[in-house]
Amino acid sequence: MRVRPARLVEILPEAGVDLLLVTAPFNVRYLTGYTGSNGIVLLGERLRIFITDFRYVEQAAEEVDPSFERRRAPLELIESVADVLPGGALRLAFEDAHVSVRQHARLRELLPDDVELVGTEELVERLRMVKELAEVEAIRAASAVADAAFEQLLSEGLVGRTEREVALALEAGMRERGAQRASFETIVASGPRGALPHAQARDVTIERGELVVIDWGAELDGYCSDCTRTIATNGLGDQGREVYELVRTAQLAGLEAVAAGRSAREVDGVAREVIENGGYGERFGHGLGHGVGLEVHERPRLSQRSQDALEAGNVVTVEPGVYLPGELGVRIEDLVVVTEQGCEILTSSPKELRTVQ
Ligand code: ZN
Ligand code: ZN
Repeated sequence: MRVRPARLVEILPEAGVDLLLVTAPFNVRYLTGYTGSNGIVLLGERLRIFITDFRYVEQAAEEVDPSFERRRAPLELIESVADVLPGGALRLAFEDAHVSVRQHARLRELLPDDVELVGTEELVERLRMVKELAEVEAIRAASAVADAAFEQLLSEGLVGRTEREVALALEAGMRERGAQRASFETIVASGPRGALPHAQARDVTIERGELVVIDWGAELDGYCSDCTRTIATNGLGDQGREVYELVRTAQLAGLEAVAAGRSAREVDGVAREVIENGGYGERFGHGLGHGVGLEVHERPRLSQRSQDALEAGNVVTVEPGVYLPGELGVRIEDLVVVTEQGCEILTSSPKELRTVQ
């Protein structure tokens, strides 16, 4: 963890700034280890300051890397930034996606005139894209917990249970195996509801002859997993099978295309082309995947609009889907670590169409 602030300081000159104010909680956690809800960081070549309020002083003493000087301040932490700055003219960066208009105005009001406020985009997020070995291991462990809970769930069957019951059982299974929580709200979408990529689980009974899209993940030691499987219940018709096989072919092609040095756009295109050639191009309305780490959606993004290039150590999802409104949906998602040669798949659940009671 100690190398992270040093790596960040190295890229500050590139961004044309002297100091960075970090206010996004996941970024604060990444840099310091602090897991509380109110904490900010000021970072520069000769300055490493962590600030929190009285509620978190003890927690910060336990969690925050000792290379940071710890300060205590009133609840509105940015009010204290001016007090800890070194004197003299400087360019102070802030995270423009995380500082509100009101906070910005207040900062401007409190800072001396020779401190210039500079909005920066995703400086810490860029570091977070490439995972350290220990981070990959944490994600691998989260994934294993999620997979084990899923196998138990399927062994108990799906027909006759409601989507909500299934989602709850899956979440309970993950927590029993050590997860702190689900890494996002579990999606269980049966039959026509499968056509909604972000459907909420409802009080509706899963029937025979349906496809059920289940998208779930565990959070373990702060790191997330993310996986989707589409499961058939007994008596599925031909259309469902056809669409499933198309999505599976696209997903395998996408996995095959992942490697360090490939553009994220290009990898998205490989899977997309399979679905287009199958006649369902219009029915695959989202990007192929996203980074996963402390947050379940991070960079890099795998889509036609992405400017990201894949690097060894990225952890990304590969999750094509086909959504037929009023009929059915299929999505298959794996979580992978990008390597120089290709990728290593962290999710272990089988992808041949599985049919359960
Ligand atoms: Zn997912
Ligand atoms: Zn995902």
